[in-house]
Amino acid sequence: MTKALRLVLGDQLNINISSLADYEHETDLVLICEVNEEATYVKHHKKKIAFIFSAMRHFGAELKNNGYTVEYSRIDDRDNTGNFFGEVKRCLKKYNFDKIVVTEASEYRCLKEIKSWSKQLNCEVEILEDDRFLSSKNNFIDWAQGRKELRLENFYREMRRKHSILMNDKQPIGEKWNFDNDNRKPLTSGIAIPQTYKEKPDQITQEVIKLTAKLFDNHFGNLNDFHYAVTRDQALKALGQFIKERLSSFGDYQDAMLMDEPWLYHSHIGLYLNCGLLLPLECIEAAQKAYHDEIAPLNCVEGFIRQILGWREFVRGIYWLKMPEYETLNFFNAKRKLPSFFWTGNTKMNCLKQSISETKENAYAHHIQRLMVIGNFSLLSGLNPTEVNEWFLIVYADAYQWVELPNVTGMALFADGGILGSKPYASGGNYINKMSNYCKSCEYKVSQKNGETACPYNYLYWNFMIENKQKLSKNARLSIMYGTLNRMSEDKIKSITNDSRKFLNALC
Ligand SMILES: Cc1cc2nc3c(=O)[nH]c(=O)nc-3n(C[C@H](O)[C@H](O)[C@H](O)COP(=O)(O)OP(=O)(O)OC[C@H]3O[C@@H](n4cnc5c(N)ncnc54)[C@H](O)[C@@H]3O)c2cc1C
Ligand code: SF4
Repeated sequence: MTKALRLVLGDQLNINISSLADYEHETDLVLICEVNEEATYVKHHKKKIAFIFSAMRHFGAELKNNGYTVEYSRIDDRDNTGNFFGEVKRCLKKYNFDKIVVTEASEYRCLKEIKSWSKQLNCEVEILEDDRFLSSKNNFIDWAQGRKELRLENFYREMRRKHSILMNDKQPIGEKWNFDNDNRKPLTSGIAIPQTYKEKPDQITQEVIKLTAKLFDNHFGNLNDFHYAVTRDQALKALGQFIKERLSSFGDYQDAMLMDEPWLYHSHIGLYLNCGLLLPLECIEAAQKAYHDEIAPLNCVEGFIRQILGWREFVRGIYWLKMPEYETLNFFNAKRKLPSFFWTGNTKMNCLKQSISETKENAYAHHIQRLMVIGNFSLLSGLNPTEVNEWFLIVYADAYQWVELPNVTGMALFADGGILGSKPYASGGNYINKMSNYCKSCEYKVSQKNGETACPYNYLYWNFMIENKQKLSKNARLSIMYGTLNRMSEDKIKSITNDSRKFLNALC
């Protein structure tokens, strides 16, 4: 009988993962390892490390309770070699297996390494498809084949049809594919927003928090008020709570931001989906059921489902289609170093201060804070995409390169020149002012376009349009903005470039 060593990586914490599908109780062993290399190849947020290690430990225990034989390497084990290869080699030596079975790693870097093991270890390595996604890598390649442009909307419609989600035979329920026009409402302060799911850390989590504080003391972020779910049962409860209490307002307030309200009506399940505690289809089906049960309206349910069935699958498809080149793209040749306030939140710009401080606290910021505050600032300031990508990969508990990179390089920075989106998500301070109450408490004035007290987003926006005119002016979606720019007086343009130069030179 073949003896298999089944390696389960830290973002594959699901008992139905392909690598465990034909597990043989008599002969096989599951290896789960906490390794220093993964925790430090970028210095991940402390809360992210504590979350993943705790979820891994709980998953190891769950497998044991279900009768699996598990070898678990803890980060502080004396013999821990600090990397996957070393741990697999150690295990092979100890128990002698005929083959290694693993579900394909989600990140290019890791998959490339695993592909080299068979030769190095002189042992068969069976790499299985990650079937937790609704569109396989090959499905996406087939879909992309021969298309002039890869656009979310087309992909999403096809996914709706294929998986029969929110469909009335061949037509979308509500006769529209997308209800974004009903969304994008601002929120007023003082409104009672239902709380995010909070789980009290058990003994395992408390131990991991202590260990993280000790071993990764110099990493970004803090460990206070750790409340994430760390088991599948808890993650399902978090999903259930969102569906019951917040989904009915998700769409309306999807883009809203409020001072000192980091969670709002978002689901906060990205970290669970990305490490395997939740599966995409069960989240989509739970939302669909909420629509049919009249718990949530169509604009909210469709908006939520589009994020998971559409965007999440789409960005993964782009990642695997375009890697490894995608990692090096820099369409605008942006070179500026990341300002130090990205690590402290210490800036006079209130929107950035809020979004970065909340990120530091929670390893979470919602989509619009990531895109229209931090991403938009990075784009307008010409920050180096490599540094911006590294920052985003470090700071969020849901960040893995397959999802972080297309969102940053493609969506936020347009550093891919339009592979993922049709135009840069660039905007002045008005958008932030419309969707938040940040500007009211800011030292800068959003209504002011130029001068020392003017909102920096205002002049940086036009400066970006001026500097990249050659690359962007032929983009039909920007023609109105370039029309406005062409009508600007020379004095106005001078003020914009002077203010921008002064501001950018002072960044450090
Ligand atoms: C610059 C930037 C960086 C980002 N980095 C990450 C990242 O590292 N990891 C990550 O999972 N998401 C990332 N996103 C996408 C999105 O912001 C997060 O998925 C979302 O904020 C997670 O919070 P939530 O679970 O409350 O999501 P909700 O707003 O409640 O959305 C529900 C779910 O939809 C999915 N989703 C929504 N938007 C996207 C998207 N653009 N791409 C992929 N999935 C999406 C997520 O799984 C999310 O949990 C990034 C977006 C931007 C603009
Ligand atoms: S005024 Fe400008 S910098 Fe200040 S919070 Fe508003 S958008 Fe941000």
